[in-house]
Order: sequence, then structure tokens, then C-alpha cells
Amino acid sequence: MRILHTAAEIFPWVKVGGLGDVLAALPEALRAIELDARVLLPAYPALKRAFPQAKAVAGLEDLLGTGPATFLRDLTPSGVPIYLLDAPSLFDRPGGPYDDRGDSHLRFGAFSLAAAWFARHGDEDGWEPEILNCHDWQTALTPVYLKVWGGSRPRTVMTIHNLAYQGLYGPEVLPSLHLPPELMAMDGLEFYGRVNFLKGGLQVADALTTVSPTYAKEIQEPAFGEGLDGLLRHRSQALTGILNGVDHRVWNPATSPHLPHPFSLADLSGKARCKRELQREMGLEERRDLPLFVVVSRLVAQKGLDLMLAAVDRLVHEGGQLAVLGAGEAGLESGFGEAAGRHPGRVAVKVGYDEGLAHRFMGGGDALVVPSRFEPCGLTQLYALAYGALPVVRRTGGLADTVVEGETGFFFEAVDAHALGDALARACHLFFHDPLAWKRMGLQAMAQDFGWIPSAQRYRDLYRSL
Ligand code: ADP
Repeated sequence: MRILHTAAEIFPWVKVGGLGDVLAALPEALRAIELDARVLLPAYPALKRAFPQAKAVAGLEDLLGTGPATFLRDLTPSGVPIYLLDAPSLFDRPGGPYDDRGDSHLRFGAFSLAAAWFARHGDEDGWEPEILNCHDWQTALTPVYLKVWGGSRPRTVMTIHNLAYQGLYGPEVLPSLHLPPELMAMDGLEFYGRVNFLKGGLQVADALTTVSPTYAKEIQEPAFGEGLDGLLRHRSQALTGILNGVDHRVWNPATSPHLPHPFSLADLSGKARCKRELQREMGLEERRDLPLFVVVSRLVAQKGLDLMLAAVDRLVHEGGQLAVLGAGEAGLESGFGEAAGRHPGRVAVKVGYDEGLAHRFMGGGDALVVPSRFEPCGLTQLYALAYGALPVVRRTGGLADTVVEGETGFFFEAVDAHALGDALARACHLFFHDPLAWKRMGLQAMAQDFGWIPSAQRYRDLYRSL
């Protein structure tokens, strides 16, 4: 089966969040179970630098008035064919994948259109997909173009990694995207007077997926549906939740080049040393006897870190340490900075994005805090489990599907700092008073296998059903 995944991120070259990790791992896992999975991305500078030998395999004379566009093809180091849409006026920008100069609708509308064109024409070797799997709003107009154009087309799957990002623009963008005005309707792209890219994909794709079973249910409720719950209820027969996995070649405490001391289920001694090194690196007291809680996250409202900020004093009072790695909203960045100032040696923050430090946080941390308001799947708790750091999570979305209270981590329910504080206090209590139970939970966490193959098999079953 020939499958093309289209998205705006791919690890390690272009990554903002979990989407990039998925695009790196899922196609490879599908290939491991004998499907011909490939990926298509915009030719951002980082990707052009990574694939200087990429060969032109198809082209468009003009892409929505932005000039010519070329499809380049190469192979990733793990052997996945990668196509890059080279449209310099749209994607040759230094500022990351979402460098918005007021033309995001055009960038990702054009990308979606080009993907639809490619799906019907294929490359110079005649390769064309039977299944087109689009990820998130940046690719969501592809099924819409295919529907508008009519004729033969691949089956389409629209995967939601985060329903909160939908691609919303004024109605005036429709003509510039060469889409007919009739689409400005309830059963089209119209959303409270605006154009909603993701809604378009959700209306017309043959199948819809999201990245955990619980989130698939939650988004059909008003509280999590971001205004699209009615549509998702209407399409609930077409909607399934398939968990993301961990790429164990990247996230493995026995082999990660980022950890100062490797460790594994068979020999955990390196973990204590990772903790000491992390405490030193972050300027925390080098105390083996205190539980070290870590956060690795985008600092945005979704992630609930305002609750963590409000619970910092309580955590310190209970005897915990906290190290935060993250970047995002200025208020949260400075808030954690102030907390570190109040609790020297006990709380530390590193503002920024640092892949290697993320490994050291998971490796050195005793516990990872993920107080998300909603969480489609969440990858950091999976990485924490693999690195023997117990997740303290709000019971929502993929967090509810991957952590087991009292076995591999700690849950709290209400979106408030007291509920989080209680969970943190429970964790501290166990750490101080029942170290054997703590250790047993760590071993159980590390023994969990959230590898990609079972998830890839579920995607395969879905593709077959189409
Ligand atoms: P989301 O996609 O909503 O950001 P996920 O948990 O699915 O959340 O994925 C987050 C990914 O981004 C993980 O791979 C995590 O390690 C990484 N990450 C987030 N913030 C940072 C940071 N400041 N430094 C390094 N890695 C980060």
C-alpha cells in the first residue's frame, strides 16, 4: 500500500512539538510493517540544507500566483522517501516553520493544494499515493481540493494532533486559494463568519483520526471540541483515536548520547548519577534524598503550567525540587524565574528549547509534571516513563490512556492548583516514606512499551478499511 503523509514538521530538522516526532517515527514504523509510506513537507531552509542532493521529480508552473514550485525527492537517514515542496517565496524563511508574515493562509493553502496535485499526478517514476494522510490544519485543505476538483483521487485521512489550532482566516482568502465561494457555508469551511482550514478537512476526509482514544471521545464534547464538537459528533463513525508511540532509538536511556550516564532496567545505577549531574547543571542542591520534579514543555495555557506555578511553594514545602525547561508565554517564563529566585537551590528554570537538556531532565528527574488542561496524546510522559521518571499528570486525553495511577504515575482531576498540589504531595510522601514502592513504580514505568509498531498496525488496519 502506498501512503503519503503530509505535515509541516519533521524531527530532527523542523520540530516545534510532538507533530515533528510523529512524522519522523510513524512513516518509518509503517515501512517496517511493509507499507510504502513516504512524507511530503514544505522545503524549509533546514530541510534544503539537510537534503542538498534532493532530486526534482515533479513541478508546477505556478502555485497560486506565488511562482513556480518543484517537488524534490530524497531519502531520510532511516530510509523513508521524503518529498519537499520547493516554493521559495513561501518557505525560504529563517524563522521556523510557522514564520507568519500575514500570509500563513497562502503558505499552507498552497502546500495543501500542491499535495493534492501531487496525489493525482505522482512523481516522475509514476509513484502516487493510494492513501493520503494529512496532519493538522496546515494540510487540511488537501482533501478539500481533491473533492472540489472531482475525478479519481486517493483515500484521505485527516489526523488531528491538536484541535486548538485550526487555521482561521477572513472570508476574503477563499478566492486567493482558488476555492469556490460556495464553500463559505455551514457544511463547508465557514466557521462563525471565518474560513476554517481544519473544518474543511474534517468535513470531507474519508477517515478522521486523533492521537489517543480518550481525546477522540473528549473532542466530541463541547468542553474540548473547540467549536467543532458538533461536526465531530456527526462524523463520529469515521473518527478513531490511535496513540502515538515512542521512538526508542531516540528516547532510550541506555543509548541516548545526551545522558551523562546510561542506565537501563537491568542497571539503574546511572540514573542516580544523572540526577546529581542535572542538579549540578541546574544549580540545584545536590541532594539524592529529595525528589526532583521536572517539567519539559511549551509554556502555553494548554499545558496548565500556571497551576504548577501556583503549586511551587507547596511542592517546596513538601520537600520537592523543581527544574523547568520550556519556552513560550512571557508571564510563565518570568513566573518560574521568580519562583527560582524565591527558592534558590530548590527551584531552577532554563528558558529555551534544548533537545539534549530534555533528555537530561527525563534521565535525572524522579518525576515529570504534566498538568495539561487538555492533551491530545502527549509525548513527554511517554519519554518520562521510558526514563524512569514518574509522570504526575492531569487525567485527560492521552495522559489518561498512558499513565496508571499508583502503578506508573499520579493523577489529579480538577484544573486547579490544589488538586495538583495534592498529587505532588502524594508523590513526595511516597518518595520519602516508601522508597521501595517508589522504586517499584519506576521499574514498572520503564517496563512499559509504547513503541510505534502497535500503533502503526492500527493505522494500517484503518488504511486497509478505506
Ligand atoms: P506538544 O506537541 O503539545 O508540544 P508533546 O508532549 O506531544 O506536546 O510533545 C512535545 C515535544 O517537544 C517533546 O518531544 C518534548 O520533549 C519537546 N519539547 C517541548 N518543549 C521543549 C523544550 N523547551 N526543549 C526541548 N524539548 C522540548
